[in-house]
Amino acid sequence: MKLLEDRIKEDGIVLEGNVLKVNSFLNHQIDPDLMAAIGQEFAKLFKDQGITRILTVESSGIAPAIMVGYALHVPVVFARKKKSSTLNEAVYSAEVFSYTKNVLNTISVDQKFLTASDKVLIIDDFLANGQAVLGLIEICRQAKADIVGAGIVVEKSFQKGADLIKKAGVHLESLARIEAFVDGQVKFVEE
Ligand code: 5GP
Repeated sequence: MKLLEDRIKEDGIVLEGNVLKVNSFLNHQIDPDLMAAIGQEFAKLFKDQGITRILTVESSGIAPAIMVGYALHVPVVFARKKKSSTLNEAVYSAEVFSYTKNVLNTISVDQKFLTASDKVLIIDDFLANGQAVLGLIEICRQAKADIVGAGIVVEKSFQKGADLIKKAGVHLESLARIEAFVDGQVKFVEE
């Protein structure tokens, strides 16, 4: 998606540890026009597949996910990282190792927001080693929900997440695919 790649080139900052900082439009300050365009793009990529729910994980997946849900007119559910006092025992959960925070989180979704009749589109902001998306896939499997696919805003294709998701049999679409970081610059995969 050219608009997104241009924005990454303009405002993304390459940090140590193969981390791309995009906190001026995605991870801290959010550009709603860009998020709306991202929502439309995913809606186009996954149209006519009978999606009934969008599933993401807090917090950075929520902004793009809500715009996809808005474009497809379906509810958006985000897995929580902390046990909420209002989240009762009936949850689906999975262990997820956080790439950027280096901690193990248990993510959970209330069972009433994901069912065996759902057709789910998983959305997340970044794909690195695939742990967040694999955790969401695990939660869908516990719910016996159908997984239509996974939509990623920024895929770091040189890390192993994309392969792991494809091996799990899940259709993957990423709007920007990064081949490498070279001298602090982002090199995208040529289509
Ligand atoms: P994974 O679970 O695929 O290893 O990592 C994906 C998660 O880690 C995303 O949900 C995102 O929050 C975070 N993440 C991984 N790599 C990056 C990155 O380069 N930049 C930012 N901002 N977040 C990242």
